[in-house]
Amino acid sequence: MVSLMEVYIKKRILIIYTGGTIGMMKSDHGYTPEKDSFLEQLNNIQELKDEKMPLWDLVSLEPLLDSSSVSVDEWNKIGEIISNAYESYDGFVVLHGTDTMAYTASALSFMLENLSKPVVFTGSQIPLCEIRNDARDNLITSFLIASNENIHEVCLYFGGKLLRGNRAIKFSANDLIAFMSPNYPTLADVGIDIRYHRSALMKETDQPFSFQKLQRVPIGVLKVFPGIQFDLFEPIMMNALKGIVVETFGAGNIPQDGKELFPLIKRAFEHGTIVTVTSQCSHGSVILGAYEASNGLKEAGAVSGYDMTSEACVAKMYYLFSKGYDSELIKELMETNLRGELTL
Ligand code: ASP
Repeated sequence: MVSLMEVYIKKRILIIYTGGTIGMMKSDHGYTPEKDSFLEQLNNIQELKDEKMPLWDLVSLEPLLDSSSVSVDEWNKIGEIISNAYESYDGFVVLHGTDTMAYTASALSFMLENLSKPVVFTGSQIPLCEIRNDARDNLITSFLIASNENIHEVCLYFGGKLLRGNRAIKFSANDLIAFMSPNYPTLADVGIDIRYHRSALMKETDQPFSFQKLQRVPIGVLKVFPGIQFDLFEPIMMNALKGIVVETFGAGNIPQDGKELFPLIKRAFEHGTIVTVTSQCSHGSVILGAYEASNGLKEAGAVSGYDMTSEACVAKMYYLFSKGYDSELIKELMETNLRGELTL
């Protein structure tokens, strides 16, 4: 029997299961996502039924996917589920494969406008069905975080760290601490207690929540390397892509003999294509014009990605083009902090 007090304080969260290692089972072709057995395993975790835990419901995407196949369509599905259920739940947990979790978390951070409830992405490196696994703690802790009313943003919980979703990167294919947030402090560290860092958390907004669906905008990522011949990329930069993330050296530098990039950027912009410059270094920020080797990029009309991750840059471009903004405004907003994704 549930007491009146319990009815009053019990939080209700929605779990959105998209696939990923966390719910995978061994098959003849390697690990593959499974629905029924995962639900059974979840129901067997007694801690998830404990009275200190929030009440929870679960919905699954169809089909369940390895996150290497998750893209704009799935981002839209996840966003729609959250948007439709927004008023009925106090928080949301998205169970997702680790490979592209940082992309999906970044995308949702932009798509869920004026979010005032927690949306927590998690997954695991070892499936829940294995005796030794990291799934169990990631699940239990994420359920608790998703019922915390002080969180008003999309975040990612993994291996004892709560990170801002659009600041996270997957840095290890094997370790149980697989994600880090190189340019922003952890939102919480989990040891004996869950220690939230209040000053790092997003403040609550009083604006009404809304949801922006994304379009399949043609976006490309170009990694600069010694000897790169930029002119080879001209056809796709001019005609195919709307948004290009150029991953440069250090603080935004490209080789001196790569000057053919500058007129390309200029003409690409005249075609309505936005070029955003990020760094191949995960720590630190792009500073266009700090070196001669980056000065031309700025003059040509490239925008600075500052300390944004490439994942966040890609997601932000999808979002801004899907809003239907013109190129000038997209350029301006790429360099504006919208969801705590960059430090100016
Ligand atoms: N390939 C898996 C996925 O991203 C890896 C994982 O979940 O850890 O779905």
